[in-house]
Amino acid sequence: MPSEASNLRAIREKVEARERLSFEDGLALEASNDLFALGAMANLVRERYNGNFGYYNVNTHINPTNVCVYKCDFCAFRADLDDPRGYTMDQTQIKERALQARSRGATELHIVGGLHHKLPFQYYVDVVRWVKEAAPEIHVKAYTGVEVEWFAKIDRRPIREILERLIEAGLGSLPGGGAEIFHPEVRDAICGAKASTETWLEVHRTAHQLGLHSNATMLYGHVEKAKHRIDHLVRLRELQDETGGFQTFIPLAFHPDHSRMDEIPKPSGVMDLKTMAISRLMLDNFPHIKAYWVMLGIKTAQVALAFGADDIDGTVVHEKIYHEAGAETPQEVTVAEIRRLIGEAGRIPVERDTLYHRVDRTGERWVSGEHIDVPLLTLAGK
Ligand code: SF4
Repeated sequence: MPSEASNLRAIREKVEARERLSFEDGLALEASNDLFALGAMANLVRERYNGNFGYYNVNTHINPTNVCVYKCDFCAFRADLDDPRGYTMDQTQIKERALQARSRGATELHIVGGLHHKLPFQYYVDVVRWVKEAAPEIHVKAYTGVEVEWFAKIDRRPIREILERLIEAGLGSLPGGGAEIFHPEVRDAICGAKASTETWLEVHRTAHQLGLHSNATMLYGHVEKAKHRIDHLVRLRELQDETGGFQTFIPLAFHPDHSRMDEIPKPSGVMDLKTMAISRLMLDNFPHIKAYWVMLGIKTAQVALAFGADDIDGTVVHEKIYHEAGAETPQEVTVAEIRRLIGEAGRIPVERDTLYHRVDRTGERWVSGEHIDVPLLTLAGK
């Protein structure tokens, strides 16, 4: 059997030659404990694609309701219909939040939430419309593949029509949530009731066909195994080969507190950095890999900028989903703090908008400038 060192050497040669890594290569990376070798390879790809830049954005989250028909084992955010913790934001609250984001110079509103037992699809369309009425220049990145599937169910329309109605209301792109782990051995166990893997991928495929960009996530560090993580990355890579519509991959560290899986320990720092590096190496056709500081913690997110990540997300504000699950990070970090963290990591901080245009704040109001093009070399070599 080849040794770990010879496996890594062979993979390193492939990375240097800009060749695609196989499923087996992914498993070999997972089996390695040479964290620095993994980081160095991921950093090579990261710098090949994104140079020395570290991206961030100025954004705000809105979670319009936490009432949810599903009961995913890992979720600490949801509430039952009759739960006193349950809430649903109305037009006034949504518009207030949008105006507040606008006054803080946000370029993006990130909107995701629960699948309410009784709210019609029109409410979710209205949320987008209310935001655009209050703050037309803000990009609305809203609703996971799981939410879009739910809307199709309750409104009895195909996914394409649901997305078209949301686009008409002002939807600008889809976030990457709800992907969790695609492999049925895990998905069926932790969130079997909600959108299947095939449906999640179909929502994103359809969104890309309609001209929307989207992100993708992977919830790791719970009951899944290495083979499930690699399978997840390969499935995303295949869809990206087909559509080219994904912008950013975000590995999400599991937070057990207050969930039905609270006996499982949090992923370690080593696992966080390893998963980041392996994601960068396997997803050769994704322009960006994000270290989402809310989940990772600010310090790990900063270090992740040397382990494959080129983006650190944004100022956030009002995040509820992961803070309910015990995330100890603050609700918000300032732009100055984000820029300092990126700069201390030896990277050049660049503010981007949701669609990866550089943001110019030299005038009275922010404007989006040139697009950040990423030379995805592996795809070109296919
Ligand atoms: S993860 Fe989403 S779909 Fe699952 S219970 Fe929580 S809010 Fe509902």
